[in-house]
Amino acid sequence: SQKIKIGIVGYGNLGKGVELSINQNEDMELIAIFTRRDPDSLNNPLMRNIKDIADYKDKIDVMILCGGSATDLPEQTPEIAKMFNTVDSFDTHANIPIHYDNVDKVGKEKGTLNLISSGWDPGLFSMQRIIGESILPVGNTYTFWGEGVSQGHSDAIRRIDGVLDGKQYTVPIEKALEKVRSGENPEFTTREKHLRVCYVVAKEGEDLERIENEIKTMPNYFDEYDTEVNFITKEELEKNHSGMPHGGYVLRTGQSETGSKQRIEFVLELESNPEFTASVLVAYARAVKKMHNNGENGCITVFDVPLGMLSPKSPSELRKEIL
Ligand code: NDP
Repeated sequence: SQKIKIGIVGYGNLGKGVELSINQNEDMELIAIFTRRDPDSLNNPLMRNIKDIADYKDKIDVMILCGGSATDLPEQTPEIAKMFNTVDSFDTHANIPIHYDNVDKVGKEKGTLNLISSGWDPGLFSMQRIIGESILPVGNTYTFWGEGVSQGHSDAIRRIDGVLDGKQYTVPIEKALEKVRSGENPEFTTREKHLRVCYVVAKEGEDLERIENEIKTMPNYFDEYDTEVNFITKEELEKNHSGMPHGGYVLRTGQSETGSKQRIEFVLELESNPEFTASVLVAYARAVKKMHNNGENGCITVFDVPLGMLSPKSPSELRKEIL
């Protein structure tokens, strides 16, 4: 049968990850990559100027949107949904309901199907939280992130006066994880769950104590955590901290009526956050194509997608092989 035709909008970490992931899915083909920058500067034969996106209206089944959540996706998703089915990874949690309403309106008007806030968190972790809470209604849910690089916190370090570059790792505290696993149903303060570890390259002659203090007391980002600050050279940062690992844990600990303890634990260990997130978006693009073929439109989230839709296999194949 015909391959699913994919387009990518935005060629950053995630966009590059999607391009790679398509190679691993034989039922899909990449048609074009759209950017707001000069396409000729990006050295890729599939690169197109985003201004030409309308020319691809009948040539692409699903657009995978790889812009940033802060300012790109709130504009791009509703705009592109006027012409194409879309998948995005919108992760500004507080604004998901507004984003949903905007995209749903366009999708219903234009007959496109659009899946928002896919990825791992939000995304796979959100699904695990729902599974845990639905199956073990009496219990507690815990999410731990890391060990991994937080882009937002790394950016915050780099904005400090006297800092050349920096990376921040979010590290779950093992003792807290063990407490959860034991079924004690503990309550934690922010400080008790995660540690923040920073690697900082300072400009020559800077007062390191001042920089360390500014990091540790930064409101919203660091002040509620125990933070470790390590000053290193530019070479060390490039050699040892250039990757984008991430991951984490979703745990649900509950009890059945007799008091039997039950625990569900979902773990992600990701050597590359953007490459993994991209592979989730690609699987959901397949689901969007299938569900659009079935006549659905508007906006959906991972909660609205039956699991089998993610697979290239048919329902009968899945029943034979997996049940
Ligand atoms: P990037 O900053 O790498 O890319 C975002 C956009 O910026 C790109 O689409 C691109 O648009 C533009 N861009 C990229 N590189 C450059 C450059 N060198 N100069 C100028 N512009 C550039 O972000 P990521 O790809 O790492 O992440 C995108 C979003 O994915 C994040 O904002 C986050 O919200 C989301 N995410 C979600 C996850 C989840 O689990 N749900 C997990 C991880 C990320 P253009 O080509 O048009 O210029």
